[in-house]
Amino acid sequence: MMPETISDTQWAKRPVRIEEDIIRSVFDPWLSWQSYSPFDFYGRDREESLYMRFTALESNDDIRNFIINFGFLGLQGSSLRKIMIEDEVVVEESLDEIRFEISRMRILLDLQQALTEKDLLKAKQALLSLRSVCKGRRLILISGVIDPDNPHWHDKNIDPENEWEIVRLDGYHAIVQELSHELQDVHQMLMYDFSTERYIGQWSLPTLLAAMYMMLSLDLQGGKILRKCQNPTCSKYFEVYAHDTRKIYHDPSCASLQAQRNYRQKAKKKKEEASQTSSEDED
Ligand SMILES: [Zn+2]
Repeated sequence: MMPETISDTQWAKRPVRIEEDIIRSVFDPWLSWQSYSPFDFYGRDREESLYMRFTALESNDDIRNFIINFGFLGLQGSSLRKIMIEDEVVVEESLDEIRFEISRMRILLDLQQALTEKDLLKAKQALLSLRSVCKGRRLILISGVIDPDNPHWHDKNIDPENEWEIVRLDGYHAIVQELSHELQDVHQMLMYDFSTERYIGQWSLPTLLAAMYMMLSLDLQGGKILRKCQNPTCSKYFEVYAHDTRKIYHDPSCASLQAQRNYRQKAKKKKEEASQTSSEDED
């Protein structure tokens, strides 16, 4: 599924630090920008793709480490590539902007999962959160009949089958719109390689964010199915394979953690019930 030459795409990284709510590159004459290909972290069997690592980021330290390892997202646009040639220039991105990108990508994955699993409520919820997260930036269209904020909303008049059809249309439309927006500056340039005497297409991905959306787009085209880990304190997504459709946790540690929680909750409930019956006995 991956176009051969896309792995030539280069991005750069260097040490960064957090100051207030800003991530800044650290100037160090001994550590200049280091090039790597984001696509080295894509498409390997059963390994997390870069965008999956991105959506799992939680703390400021997680975000900082991600930027140290993979570079800035490129939120200031294509000028970043030019800046990265010059060592003294300080690059910065705000934690708020990065967090916005994390939550938007997460919601898109949640929406895709809900559409795949034909989960009406979850899909509707994801659409509404996408709209509220993107508010003031871009418009996410939601049909009036499924939009509780619409003054003409009549939830009860619509039968579930019709409702699902509308959510499905709006949902896929939103995914396509958001990904297309991120991919609008991605293009391929045609080159002629005189040494091998053949044409080669060279991909140009303006930012790391665009590279990650390209990976997601390729995965969607390839029919890859992702699922969110069911451990509520874990934000990882994992790939669902045909033979493990029942898998709901991203790894065994999350499964056992949740099993322990469930056990403790059951034990607590039992104890509460027991104390309730004993106090009833006293009465
Ligand atoms: Zn997990």
